[in-house]
Amino acid sequence: MDIDKSRNFSDWFNTVISDAALADLRYNVKGFVVFRPWSVKSMKLMYAAYEDELEARGHSPSLFPALIPESNFKIEGEHVEGFTPQVFWVEQAGGNKLEERLAMRPTSETAMYQMYALWIQGLADLPLKIYQSCQVWRHETKATKPFFRSREFYWIEAHDCFSTEKEARAQVKEDMEMTEAVVHQQFGIPFLFCQRPEWDKFPGAVHTYAADTLMPDGRVLQLPSTHLLGTNFAKAFNVNYQDEKGNRSPVWQTCYGPCISRIYGAMFSVHGDSKGLVLPFDFAPLQAVIVPILGKEKDGLAIMKYAEEVLEHLHKAGLRARIDSTPSTPGFKYNHWELHGVPIRIEIGGREAEQKSLTLVVRDAPPKTKATIPLASAAETIRKEGRLLSARLVSKADAYFNSHQAHAKTMDELKAALERGFIVRAPYCSMEKEEGKACADEIKAKLVGDVRGIKYGEAAPAHGEKCVQCGKAAKHFAYVARQY
Ligand SMILES: [Zn+2]
Repeated sequence: MDIDKSRNFSDWFNTVISDAALADLRYNVKGFVVFRPWSVKSMKLMYAAYEDELEARGHSPSLFPALIPESNFKIEGEHVEGFTPQVFWVEQAGGNKLEERLAMRPTSETAMYQMYALWIQGLADLPLKIYQSCQVWRHETKATKPFFRSREFYWIEAHDCFSTEKEARAQVKEDMEMTEAVVHQQFGIPFLFCQRPEWDKFPGAVHTYAADTLMPDGRVLQLPSTHLLGTNFAKAFNVNYQDEKGNRSPVWQTCYGPCISRIYGAMFSVHGDSKGLVLPFDFAPLQAVIVPILGKEKDGLAIMKYAEEVLEHLHKAGLRARIDSTPSTPGFKYNHWELHGVPIRIEIGGREAEQKSLTLVVRDAPPKTKATIPLASAAETIRKEGRLLSARLVSKADAYFNSHQAHAKTMDELKAALERGFIVRAPYCSMEKEEGKACADEIKAKLVGDVRGIKYGEAAPAHGEKCVQCGKAAKHFAYVARQY
């Protein structure tokens, strides 16, 4: 392929998905896609990285049922109101109508918290920090887009309980730190964490904080969000603990939801280039591919034998590698593996076989940049080159993200910056529904911009700053962007 993603992101995105066989969109349920091996292998590695981070910070895995009785679902008022329009319902089993219909989980609060009520008795049971890796279903009414928004997606949901508000707030902060450690440092995706406006919170939450990243077409995509649930769900589901004095109090709760299938979509969109995927070394299904270059027939056997030796050396070192011994030409193979984002290509011909060396090409190197290295240190060099590639991807992504930020004081400035595909900071009246939603609606209607909220930890504007839309005193700096 040869498509500039900055000029035609949609074309680039669809071509990568089909040509690198990431997903098949021909499944005959609308909004559902088939994820194919090349994307699933990466997503499994991403799941593992996230699960390791969660467990290192005190979470334990569980698996809850996918079906939730309607009666559970109705227990928390705002939650049921927010999610009902998106729920898939199971109404029959074996041809008989069920006595109570069952929701296919759109998220698992209402499945998990009734069990938490049974598990949590006293302070000894707290904190409780549990996550599950699973898929959820939401009948999205917005246009679907594979990886970014489909009606079935693959995520992790962590649901934590504490005895104090302070610990719950600290968990929200820790969720943001985990996002930084995994999504930014490991997957290489920069983001901005915003506290969402009151009118755009998770249904049932006290506060919602969400990470927005920027796609090559200048639109933001929401990545993990973390929610301070307060005691709303605990009161509804009777998740109480008894303190030393014998008083029973509701627990403080948080939940955190990194969607792996969406983050994968963001990862390949942020790092890809005109030739296709560029994947961070640790998340590439294949880290190195060996392309034998069989010149004269008499060398063929020796070259293949040597390629096997190289492969064994790499496998012993724990690298994911293979030999491409298909009958295609070397040039065809180079394009094929570049499209698939394999970080390192190893070329082996008669000279390499004779010298016990290999020729390396790194996926993001300028054309014709090659290095010949000895077999003895190959695994070590490949790891080092892989780490450098991953680090370059983070810096490049950061540079793009940081250069697409602007500040606007007027609607004209806001409009101009949004049209250039920027995330724009602007003084804003209020994040309360009654006072501030009307301005967000105006900005949406006039400029196709979405008020994403206020940056976590950012100070309020100085006295005298005026809302970019209504001109009233600005309580906040809002971040505005066009969104998926
Ligand atoms: Zn306003």
